Amino acid sequence: MATTRPGVMVPLARDSKRQGEIKQVTVNLKEEDFRLKVKDIVREVSKGVKLDDAEVIVAGGFGLGTAEGFELLKQLADCFQHSAIGASRKVVDLGWIPYNHQVGQTGKTVRPKLYIACGISGAIQHRVGMSKSATIIAVNKDPDAPIFGFADHGIVGDVYQILPELIKQFKQAQDGKDSTQNLDSSGVKAVVGAH
Ligand SMILES: Cc1cc2nc3c(=O)[nH]c(=O)nc-3n(C[C@H](O)[C@H](O)[C@H](O)COP(=O)(O)OP(=O)(O)OC[C@H]3O[C@@H](n4cnc5c(N)ncnc54)[C@H](O)[C@@H]3O)c2cc1C
Repeated sequence: MATTRPGVMVPLARDSKRQGEIKQVTVNLKEEDFRLKVKDIVREVSKGVKLDDAEVIVAGGFGLGTAEGFELLKQLADCFQHSAIGASRKVVDLGWIPYNHQVGQTGKTVRPKLYIACGISGAIQHRVGMSKSATIIAVNKDPDAPIFGFADHGIVGDVYQILPELIKQFKQAQDGKDSTQNLDSSGVKAVVGAH
């Protein structure tokens, strides 16, 4: 028998031609054989779209500088339907955002259509939780940040310059305006192409 965490694998389509054999195995366990006891089951209570179900995840890391930085991320996430906020462990440990937003080895494994990583370095423990996302966009002021090694698109710049401009562009695109007309690229140090 094997178990995995949710999101780690994509389930195969049901194949009714495959038949298994059910074997009844009798076990005789006594109370003293159990080393763990389930005392209570507490379901996760979260408002809005859950991280595992989100089609778009906007995730923040230590590069945000403060917990208030997540307000900006929420504005960006609000540009999309079925979106949710993710986070690195470092900012969860700092208490900037609750644990149920953590992505990575000791958090959730996610596979959204779009993952926008803001101020996240791309440590392996974070990468294992989000690298199967269909498209990854990274915003980081360090051109040598590891996340640029596996992101599909990278923007080198300060999140506080880049994100307001992205929010403006996405909102204009939704309103049907040509968002390239007034593109303010002053904060963009470089755009890193597909890896
Ligand atoms: C056993 C174990 C399990 C772990 N599990 C997890 C896990 O589940 N998930 C997880 O995320 N981590 C996990 N970690 C921690 C992981 O190793 C990293 O420490 C963590 O992911 C780093 O978080 P970060 O990218 O937010 O911070 P940092 O590594 O400090 O990166 C911050 C980034 O922000 C950039 N930056 C700074 N200022 C700005 C700005 N103004 N604009 C743009 N960019 C900016 C910097 O260039 C830097 O790249 C685990 C570690 C261990 C040992």
